[in-house]
Amino acid sequence: MPDSTPEAARRGLILINTGPGKGKTTAALGTALRAAGNGMSVLILQFLKGSWHYGELDAAAALNTALGAAESGTGGTLSPATSSPPAQNFVIRQLGRGFVKVGGAETDPEDIRLVEAAWAEAAAAILSGDWDLVVLDEINYAIGYKMLSPEAVAEVLRRKPEMVHVILTGRNAHPLLVELADTVTEMREVKHAYQRGILAQRGIEF
Ligand code: ATP
Ligand code: MG
Repeated sequence: MPDSTPEAARRGLILINTGPGKGKTTAALGTALRAAGNGMSVLILQFLKGSWHYGELDAAAALNTALGAAESGTGGTLSPATSSPPAQNFVIRQLGRGFVKVGGAETDPEDIRLVEAAWAEAAAAILSGDWDLVVLDEINYAIGYKMLSPEAVAEVLRRKPEMVHVILTGRNAHPLLVELADTVTEMREVKHAYQRGILAQRGIEF
């Protein structure tokens, strides 16, 4: 499509991918790819994830190289998300440890600490205006598990720099955030291979 968006009409959107069906994270990754192809800087912060090695981590590193960015996109020590990124950049950071115990027992304080640290980084990255698109992957779960307050997230989203796009993923998006968002998509499960006992497949699930 020709780029027909007049400069004055450009604005940052808040998007939410929620619902029980598969595709919330993959749709966010697809949008991130689209943004990167447009020369936009993309920061993907994965709340809760950490123990699995996802294919997108290697794809991000390759894309960074292809786009000519100096920085590697796969975790490691923090080059602060608030520092100015190269003009083109595609960074994914896993900020959890992959498994959160829920129901019954109390949430492990270590998981809460990780979510709090992840949120501090996310808020700083959004408010810095350094990134054109910030994806908060699985943040809805952190909110749903009461590890993060929806009000705190809403407060940052309300005063984000105008041009910054933010995508939030995960089931059971909080009504306050749904209200605030511009575009909300609910994935509906028609069927899922897992129900037939088919385990997660490389390249499709991770
Ligand atoms: P994906 O990362 O594949 O886009 P998702 O982000 O929509 O999935 P999550 O709630 O983050 O879904 O769960 C991630 C994992 O759970 C993936 O391995 C995904 O295939 C699997 N999953 C998603 N939806 C379902 C479902 N309805 N039934 C069983 N497993 C599912
Ligand atoms: Mg997901």
